[in-house]
Amino acid sequence: MSFQYHMPVRVIAGADCVWENGALFAPFGARALIVTGRSSAKNGALDDVAAVLRRNGQAFAVYDRVEANPSVATVRECAALARSFGADFIVAAGGGSPMDAAKAVALCARQEVGDIFTHPIGGDVLPMIHIPTTAGTGSEVTQYSVLTDDAAQTKRSIAAPQLFPRFAFLDGKYMATLPQSVTVNTALDALSHAVEGMLSVRAGAFSDALARESLRLLGGEFPALCAGEYAAEDRQTLLQAAALAGMVIANTGTTPVHGMGYSLTYFRGVPHGRANGLLLPAFLEACARRIPQRVREICGALGADLGEFARRVDVLLGARERCTEAELRDYAARAAKNRNVENCAVRFSEEDLLDVMRRSLGG
Ligand code: NAP
Ligand code: FE
Repeated sequence: MSFQYHMPVRVIAGADCVWENGALFAPFGARALIVTGRSSAKNGALDDVAAVLRRNGQAFAVYDRVEANPSVATVRECAALARSFGADFIVAAGGGSPMDAAKAVALCARQEVGDIFTHPIGGDVLPMIHIPTTAGTGSEVTQYSVLTDDAAQTKRSIAAPQLFPRFAFLDGKYMATLPQSVTVNTALDALSHAVEGMLSVRAGAFSDALARESLRLLGGEFPALCAGEYAAEDRQTLLQAAALAGMVIANTGTTPVHGMGYSLTYFRGVPHGRANGLLLPAFLEACARRIPQRVREICGALGADLGEFARRVDVLLGARERCTEAELRDYAARAAKNRNVENCAVRFSEEDLLDVMRRSLGG
């Protein structure tokens, strides 16, 4: 089996890792732009970053208006601040939304960008340091930035090697304030990344090793996720499982689960990870009909068989959203056009996607 593997992000993990390794921020330059949402002011991440920058004698500005599922307008507003402030680098602190927005800001601050979704990303972007405060997207170790494209009525990624952050700091203490719903939804996103990565046509020995370990860690956290009670070690383990799964999709990409999920988020407001979780069991069942051994391997890594896998996801989801047949047809048609259909080891036709959606969300 031939494959490629690339991971240029330097990962630093552990309690207080930002403060203890703050000297690593110094060579990035004299002026930092912190890109974040509202919660980092309460979970300690913003204080830690500010304290490190002050200790290093680095000036900083804060943009804290990144919304969930960030828009291009937000990216442009924040990039304008990066330029007017003369930022030398970006520190992104938050969930996938601020981390993804920061990558697009890093691009727009350095290059003249027309249509961001078709812009050929060559040349330089501002260097980035990412600090996740959710355990799901793995954006801190990927070259993807997922933005809302209102013209296309969906979410779309931009991707380029330049969009990898230089550093990712993984400290689970920032997640002590994370609501149970966000904890579960983001864990489902990480689960989805690990599973989809193993079902990608680009899966290889290295991405599989990371995906299996991510699944093993997530499987071990299932009782904590169900109980909604997390020791510090649980938070750190979930964060590391998510980063491992991010390293997987950085190399393999995602599959139609993400393609289908984007419509649930765009049209129905379902959080990203939950959207994936709703679709994952029926998707995996469909894959099992074509490549049963591979699906057994995936479920086995989680410490379950397919039935148990579906049951665990169901427990975490609780009551499911329901969609009308017309909605499902529309979403399946949209998903069928997404690139990640071709990225899957099992080829799903539009009818196959509709079948997964009916089983997951039908009335
Ligand atoms: P999110 O949208 O970043 O955050 C969800 C909510 O949690 C927000 O209200 C946020 O508030 C809050 N929050 C974050 N950290 C918190 C903390 N420590 N304590 C309390 N509240 C906290 O959700 P996400 O699931 O992490 O990211 C989803 C986005 O990432 C989607 O746009 C998705 O498409 C994208 N994504 C990207 C990749 C990639 O490879 N780049 C992969 C998968 C998904 P504030 O934001 O106001 O602080
Ligand atoms: Fe995702």
